[in-house]
Amino acid sequence: MSAAKIDGKEIAANLRARIGTGVAALQKAHGKTPGLAVVLVGEDAASQVYVKNKGIATKEAGMASFEFRLPEDTPEAVLLDKVRALNADPAVNGILVQFPVPAHMSQQKIIDMIDPAKDVDGLNPANAGRLVSGLSALTPCTPLGSVILAKETLAQQGDDLSGKHAVIIGRSNLVGKPVAQLLLNENCTVTMAHSRTADLPAMCRQADILVAAVGIPEMVKGDWVKPGACVIDVGINRVPAPERGEGKMRLVGDVDYAQAAEVAAHITPVPGGVGPMTIACLLRNTLTAFCRQNGFAEPML
Ligand code: NAD
Repeated sequence: MSAAKIDGKEIAANLRARIGTGVAALQKAHGKTPGLAVVLVGEDAASQVYVKNKGIATKEAGMASFEFRLPEDTPEAVLLDKVRALNADPAVNGILVQFPVPAHMSQQKIIDMIDPAKDVDGLNPANAGRLVSGLSALTPCTPLGSVILAKETLAQQGDDLSGKHAVIIGRSNLVGKPVAQLLLNENCTVTMAHSRTADLPAMCRQADILVAAVGIPEMVKGDWVKPGACVIDVGINRVPAPERGEGKMRLVGDVDYAQAAEVAAHITPVPGGVGPMTIACLLRNTLTAFCRQNGFAEPML
């Protein structure tokens, strides 16, 4: 068997287009524009690229983009004051502080400071708790994107997630736990696997939906995959690529793509799978936050 590649770029582009249409309709009806504020502390090269791309995508969707760059040695109290000011700013509907922040800052303190109504990263414990409680919540972007990919892939086969056995490898607050909760909400039977799971390959072989969110390059081998499974690879790992020249690197996921594609029915590539969905879902969350803050009906996306 050779798996069909799940085209995250295309699914994300379609979602972004629908978001843009929704933003334009709300602008026309109410004369208001959603605004997303992104705060970057320091000079981390990868973070600078992410923040730049988020700004471009925000404007492309017809939203207002506010970017704040603070120096590496910014005191934590100054960043927290900035977040407080954004919480109070009516033009800002969503706030994202780009992580990682410098070591002298507490990531958790920053997460806790963001108004849950503007927490478009979905990391504030109020949103995490609401998600678990089955209440409306802002949901972390990468997990939301991962589950949309699985859902749309099955929908294209006239199938759905209900009753499927999902195995998620990784239990972080950022990815593993929210993915598990979202799949549970879709009526999957969910198993959470992690670094202490006994016989991980055997556990994975039981998965109709296998989600890898570990951070170990190509850890999931072909014989870990159940024939016909849907494999969602969240991992983004930079590995040496001497074949491209000295010092060159390439991106791989947590799944050995070539091996797994021989067994699975559907699989996300890295890059071009989950990655593009993350920004699309950030825009989706900003639109959701904007609608909820203003009491507007949320567009069907
Ligand atoms: P994390 O380090 O916080 O969590 C990793 C999890 O993997 C932990 O829960 C740990 O228990 C588990 N784990 C570690 N070693 C294991 C092993 N040998 N066997 C089984 N489980 C093991 O990482 P994270 O923030 O959840 O990110 C996971 C991956 O997803 C990383 O590669 C990261 O770069 C990627 N990521 C991608 C996006 C995206 O936009 N596509 C966004 C966020 C994270």
